[in-house]
Amino acid sequence: MNNKVLFLLLFMFIVSQASFPSYMNAENNGTVDLRILETTDLHAALVNYDYYQTKTDNTIGLVKTSSLIHQARSEAVNSLLFDNGDHLKGNPLGEYLVRIKGIQKRKIHPVYSAFNYLKYDAIAIGNHELNYGLKFLKNALKGPKMPVVNATVYKAKNNKPYFNPYVLLKRNVIDNQGQSHELNIGVIGFMPPQIMRWDKANLEGKVIARPIVEAAKEFVPKMKAEGADVIIALAHTGIDSEPYHAETENAVYYLSDIKEIDAILAGHSHGIFPGRAYKDLPNTNIDEGKVKGKPVVMAGAFGSRLGIIDLKLEVQGGKWRVVQSTSTTRPIADENGNSLVKTDKKLLKLIKKEHQETVDFLKKLGL
Ligand code: MN
Ligand code: MG
Repeated sequence: MNNKVLFLLLFMFIVSQASFPSYMNAENNGTVDLRILETTDLHAALVNYDYYQTKTDNTIGLVKTSSLIHQARSEAVNSLLFDNGDHLKGNPLGEYLVRIKGIQKRKIHPVYSAFNYLKYDAIAIGNHELNYGLKFLKNALKGPKMPVVNATVYKAKNNKPYFNPYVLLKRNVIDNQGQSHELNIGVIGFMPPQIMRWDKANLEGKVIARPIVEAAKEFVPKMKAEGADVIIALAHTGIDSEPYHAETENAVYYLSDIKEIDAILAGHSHGIFPGRAYKDLPNTNIDEGKVKGKPVVMAGAFGSRLGIIDLKLEVQGGKWRVVQSTSTTRPIADENGNSLVKTDKKLLKLIKKEHQETVDFLKKLGL
């Protein structure tokens, strides 16, 4: 073989390596383990503190869940963190900040400071985010640095989505042979259509709500067409097998029928999935954490648990597919309310001022 031929062969080899997209390599190589972490229905429970009884409560608080987040991340090669909504309202801290302090005119809401610190990958809007009105929310949403999604609230005047319905996150993941791949992670958000009744005064004439499954059926194929390799639903909705109708409040059971959705983060009903409360739900496996074969997780409320879905992805027929999954939740406290995890002191420091102001305000009222 002369040098010319050798050079030509070398050149062809380089070109052939360069011109194949990463999934062609993955066909021969690795499995990607992708861990998905969920908080849901925090209701402004940032601190392990009961404002009503003015004392420590180690069964709640993102400062505790945060330690589980750090731990779950350290165990995984590839992980993503999402919040499923209902994070701004639902305790005296949330009320104090909006109604007394008037936080909307000044600075980043401490819930969003906490989300920024923890580097959430995306968050969903829950129905309670609408309780202080759309103007408040619009201002507050200048705070989070990560994408915010919801596909079920629409502007009344032109029937266009009020929020970003979905986002495609480009993330480099490492397979089990050490090879890097760029994945397009599609993330879409939903909330119950009952908002039009629950928040009539805030919403009427301004927005309209769409049924959850209908919105999913419109946007999920679009996400696929735009290159989503994996689709994760931030579903601020619970799990119930009652027959589906346009006003279904807890729609996970029917969302799980949509083939292209790979994992469902549930919420809204403050349940724990997988968990015994769902043992009689049809087509549900509470050992593996699956509804109709699809991984689902729901992490209670107030930061009491961290939701974890572990996906194994492989390339089959040129496409990334989920070949295995498990889901579970981890608690921050045992059944007697004893803390199982450390307090994240850095996070506590970040939000301590607002927490203390709330405590002082309640004391001044004599509560
Ligand atoms: Mn809630
Ligand atoms: Mg809710």
